[in-house]
Amino acid sequence: MKTAIVVHGGAGAWSEKPDRLSRALPVCIEAAKAGQAVLVAGGSAMDAVETAVRILEDHPVLDAGRGSYPNADGLVEMDALMMNGRNLDLGAIAAVQRIQNPISLARRVMEYHDHNFLVGNGAEAFAAKAGIPFCDPADLLTDENLAHYQAANGTTNPAADSGSIGDTVGAVAIDADGNLVAGTSTGGTRHKLPGRVGDSPLVGSGGYADNWTAAVSATGHGEALMKVVISKRVCDLVGDGLSAQAACDAAIQLLAERVDGTGGLIAVDARGQIGVARNTNAMPFAYAIGDEAIVSGH
Ligand code: ASP
Repeated sequence: MKTAIVVHGGAGAWSEKPDRLSRALPVCIEAAKAGQAVLVAGGSAMDAVETAVRILEDHPVLDAGRGSYPNADGLVEMDALMMNGRNLDLGAIAAVQRIQNPISLARRVMEYHDHNFLVGNGAEAFAAKAGIPFCDPADLLTDENLAHYQAANGTTNPAADSGSIGDTVGAVAIDADGNLVAGTSTGGTRHKLPGRVGDSPLVGSGGYADNWTAAVSATGHGEALMKVVISKRVCDLVGDGLSAQAACDAAIQLLAERVDGTGGLIAVDARGQIGVARNTNAMPFAYAIGDEAIVSGH
């Protein structure tokens, strides 16, 4: 089976600051390359997705891990999801504040098996027991995001701010054994209310993976994406016989028509075919099929 990995850096408000897009694209390429190296060396789709998403989380230009957007109180609250298409195991965490790589915590929740989804203090207590490293919340907040918060706080409401959609990150992969995995990680939307959780950690919305159909990661306006359970919908459309690309296109069209939503999707199906779609002005992405050269775009 030919391996493949696709990563995205969020269907966010990229038109606001074009220089940010040119900073984000190389990070996507680096993440796809690192995931590709894992797969080409015979590694699992799980390790490839975690490796890629950690790189995206570590880069301050993207809204996940370091670089997460602060909420209305000026605090970072992060959400993440990891799903294994072989057995449909999943792990999700929400509203964590002191974890530099939420995707790794989501993976540990998945591997723990007793629960699928942990939030807030409980998720951080689990992280301490699982040996996941903690960070200072101040390290997650970049000067750029702090300045935006200070300039906008009190005058901006989340729905009216064109920059409110985040630049969530995600990766999907298929390994040589045909296993599909999806991972999504986010700091959520700018100025969100404390405690707000978007689509990203919700199974079927922010991501889904099933070896019978596809692995999908979503990004965009979480309140809309979750209404149409968009990632599971892409998998179902692939199950109905659509290609990964046609399924992503159809799901984005539905998002717009049914709930007036904006967002983006990446997918890889069980045959290793790739889909990328968005109805926002940009979504940096990169993918690698087998050991072929990286393809990137926005
Ligand atoms: N979907 C994310 C959320 O609503 C934001 C994003 O994708 O950028 O939290």
